[in-house]
Amino acid sequence: MKLHQYNGDNSLFNEFRIKCNECSGICCVALYYSKFDGFPADKVAGIPCHNLDDDFRCSIHKELHSKHLKGCMAYDCCGAGQIVTSLYGEENWKSNPQTAEEVFDVFIKTFYLQQMLWYLSEVLTLQPAKTLWEEAANYIEELHLLLKSSPSNILSFDMDEFGVKVNLMLNNSWTMVKKEVGNSKKTTKKKDFMGYNFKKANLNGYDFSTALLIAANLEGCDLTGCNFLGADMRDTNIKNADLSEGVFLTQGQINAAKGNLNTHIPEHLVMPSTWL
Ligand code: SF4
Ligand code: SF4
Repeated sequence: MKLHQYNGDNSLFNEFRIKCNECSGICCVALYYSKFDGFPADKVAGIPCHNLDDDFRCSIHKELHSKHLKGCMAYDCCGAGQIVTSLYGEENWKSNPQTAEEVFDVFIKTFYLQQMLWYLSEVLTLQPAKTLWEEAANYIEELHLLLKSSPSNILSFDMDEFGVKVNLMLNNSWTMVKKEVGNSKKTTKKKDFMGYNFKKANLNGYDFSTALLIAANLEGCDLTGCNFLGADMRDTNIKNADLSEGVFLTQGQINAAKGNLNTHIPEHLVMPSTWL
């Protein structure tokens, strides 16, 4: 069953590809992280990682895999880093420490806005949700204008109000997908699937939104029409699984999961190099 359609072009998603070489290493400074989650040390937000060099590059980038720093390898800012860096022009959190706190706040808000844009862009590829395309395109335009404007506009943007509208649209899209897939029996209120074994199950149309799938075994499963919105997929085994028609998957989720060359992912996502 084909749910996504790209009309031979998935460039719609290019704006979300991270360009670390056009960024001032913001995620490696702005965010809190812990050793437990696969980062080099426990670090508070706002303090640069000790591996970030003066050119904003990771000095151990080539060793992230051998050092098992899976948090670093999986992190994906959805393109927020390069957008925020470009909004500040020649200035950055290091050259002007007085603006650092603001830069980090703008980055976190931009990350959430980029995530919304990502999901709205996916709606534009979902055939069953065709009637929502015009509305999704309008929201996308509004967000693009905002993200090109100024840091102060981004900071003052009412994300809660906008988020309610977007969530409603994503819910409606999912309802339409579910109808197409025809598997209403597989909706569940259960959200904790940590370590659960689904091996080789046909899970078409399953609602995994906001579910804990940490270390769950989805090996060999058919995941057509499954909703993965906000699911925690750290160490989820998706080897030999078919997620090509999975819905609302993000690059961060795919990076955090364990797949292989036989894992099928949607065309708008990129296979992590660690699977090769
Ligand atoms: S914020 Fe994004 S673009 Fe910048 S270094 Fe981090 S992942 Fe790369
Ligand atoms: S190890 Fe490298 S990628 Fe990870 S947080 Fe530090 S500088 Fe960033």
